[in-house]
Amino acid sequence: MLITPEYLFSSVSAITPAFLKEKGVDALVLDVDDTLTAHGSQQLDAEVEQWLGRMRAAGVKLMIVSNNTKKRVSPFAARLGLPFVSMACKPLTFGLAAARRRFGVPRARMAIVGDQLFTDRLAASFFGIPALVVSPRGGPARKDIQFKRRLEQPFLRRYYQKGGKLL
Ligand SMILES: [Mg+2]
Repeated sequence: MLITPEYLFSSVSAITPAFLKEKGVDALVLDVDDTLTAHGSQQLDAEVEQWLGRMRAAGVKLMIVSNNTKKRVSPFAARLGLPFVSMACKPLTFGLAAARRRFGVPRARMAIVGDQLFTDRLAASFFGIPALVVSPRGGPARKDIQFKRRLEQPFLRRYYQKGGKLL
């Protein structure tokens, strides 16, 4: 299914180099809002910073691809020392295509890490790469995001009905 997660992680920090190696993935496209930090936040939790360090140490290429504005994404990306694509229009695949060119890898080596099924997960389906869906990070969601989270519920239930586990 295009929207039901294939993999559901409690947080980015639950994604391990061993998991990526098993899938043949060494280039990760990272969402920002509610994935690496709370929506609109510039805060970088130690847990996330350490995870980024583990990924780099394992030789995993990293790039931010966000639907948010350059103004929001640029300072956070700079803080992390990561290249970025803003206004990516996920679930459209322009941003992922741009990331693939900049990574210089075939898409078989890529995966997307993100929290939203109708943007991140669906973009991965359209682009033909795995989505590593993470539980949303951060505080109370805005009304529009709460609405999207409700629409996601049947697809999350489907993941568990199919025997999926929170990784
Ligand atoms: Mg997000």
